[in-house]
Amino acid sequence: MRLIFMGPPGAGKGTQAKIVTTDYGIIQISTGDILRESIRTGKELGLKAKQFMDAGKLVPDEVVIGIVRDRIREKDAADGYLLDGFPRTTQQATALKEMMKAEGQKLNAAVNLDVPEAELISRLLSRAQKEGRADDTEPVIKNRLKTYMDQTLPLIEYYRNEGILKEVNGNGSLEDITERIRTALRSTV
Ligand code: ADP
Repeated sequence: MRLIFMGPPGAGKGTQAKIVTTDYGIIQISTGDILRESIRTGKELGLKAKQFMDAGKLVPDEVVIGIVRDRIREKDAADGYLLDGFPRTTQQATALKEMMKAEGQKLNAAVNLDVPEAELISRLLSRAQKEGRADDTEPVIKNRLKTYMDQTLPLIEYYRNEGILKEVNGNGSLEDITERIRTALRSTV
């Protein structure tokens, strides 16, 4: 099973992705987590990415495309993976299609978690208090939402055209949303 999870910042992608990867016995590849880890460990990649992340902007396509290309070739990705937070631009989506084709793979589904904007801001601000992520301040949150609307939203149409889009209502309890995702994926081969 090879999946992508899309949705605005604060939609709960990461949390739901963890549950779904356990369901299917596949690995979760979160570009945000990989970038944050590179910053934490002082890697060159982290140095390149930090300024963009702190401003709520996207890290350049070639950087994240390189991360994903390397990661999906690793041994533990052979049985499947869930991409959490990638692709986020049309260029990333077409690069993903090409790199998967080169590996003889195809995506089974693209899940989009849909949550109203007002709900997102309040979720992100409450996460900011609990986790203290550097990019969870109000001005940066607003930028991340704008970046999402401008650059990532068009991917919904892209995957609808590919015929693999699964739209899931991301409003409600964590358990309800998990069940909706499971139901949406049941029809996936
Ligand atoms: P969220 O979905 O809450 O914004 P993420 O952890 O997915 O959180 O991403 C945090 C930041 O990492 C983004 O704002 C962006 O700067 C960077 N990032 C993560 N994934 C990508 C990607 N696919 N393309 C470009 N930048 C990315």
